[in-house]
Amino acid sequence: MRWPMWMVNILEKVLPARKLEVFVGESLPSKLPWRNLVVLRDAGDDWSVGMRCPCGCGQAIELALIPEAKPRWNLYAEQGSPPTLSPSIWLREGCHSHFFVRRGRVEWVRKTGNPRWPR
Ligand SMILES: [Zn+2]
Repeated sequence: MRWPMWMVNILEKVLPARKLEVFVGESLPSKLPWRNLVVLRDAGDDWSVGMRCPCGCGQAIELALIPEAKPRWNLYAEQGSPPTLSPSIWLREGCHSHFFVRRGRVEWVRKTGNPRWPR
């Protein structure tokens, strides 16, 4: 179910910042947490980050962290502090959400013509 944008924005403000969970294994868990980000760690390396699309569509998002991957993302998370990802995350399929994750908070990119935004 997709939530209206005003509800997504209110939830993002009132709920605590998203945390980073470490998952040790060879692939991300098939069931991702509702809000938190999961980093896949194997042999001491961080391979990818998984999260659910914050628009409410529930789509699983996997972002590669390894230098060889294209595209790839940077994950900044000092011990125990809320995670930051760069660059932004822009879904090419489904809901076409475009957002940043900064310090555990989703910041939406407002874009003209984005069907997610009321005109
Ligand atoms: Zn979505």
